[in-house]
Amino acid sequence: MTFSGPFSTRRNSSSITDGSMPLSHEDFMNRAIELARKSMLAGHGGPFGAVIVRDCEIIGEGSNHVVLHNDPTAHGEIMAIRDACANIGNFSLNDATIYTTGQPCPMCLGAIHWARLSRIYYGFRIEDAAAIGFDDTAIFAQFSLPPSERLIPSTELCRDATLQLAGEYASMPQRVRY
Ligand SMILES: [Zn+2]
Repeated sequence: MTFSGPFSTRRNSSSITDGSMPLSHEDFMNRAIELARKSMLAGHGGPFGAVIVRDCEIIGEGSNHVVLHNDPTAHGEIMAIRDACANIGNFSLNDATIYTTGQPCPMCLGAIHWARLSRIYYGFRIEDAAAIGFDDTAIFAQFSLPPSERLIPSTELCRDATLQLAGEYASMPQRVRY
């Protein structure tokens, strides 16, 4: 699939080469680094950028915009997933690869699974991010605790009513599975 619009403009002004030379994993990661640095220097957020590639073609790009958008979910990977899905007109990114400057946080790792991405390449590690103030390890640690012992209390409520809702959904023949 070929994308004209945003990518033709980006490619003309980026270091990603057009044409004959196949792009390497490092080329895609370098593009993620470039996006991250641009966003970081503009004050939009942390040093996080991501690109999504399918069939050696960049289909989505993103960088951290938490500060600019006042959006705690605007991580580089999330932005790249939204961009890629909008560009291809589909909520599934199966057979695509994400290149991200930092190892994904729990939210982004979840989003990567929901997007059905096939492979992750990451730059710095979770512990490297923690050293500059992004402590994902604290969130990962929450998962192994029972809900009652977690930092944010989590309590079951209105299970019957919500189960009815779930049943209504399950009986809809026209529902879109994802
Ligand atoms: Zn994240």
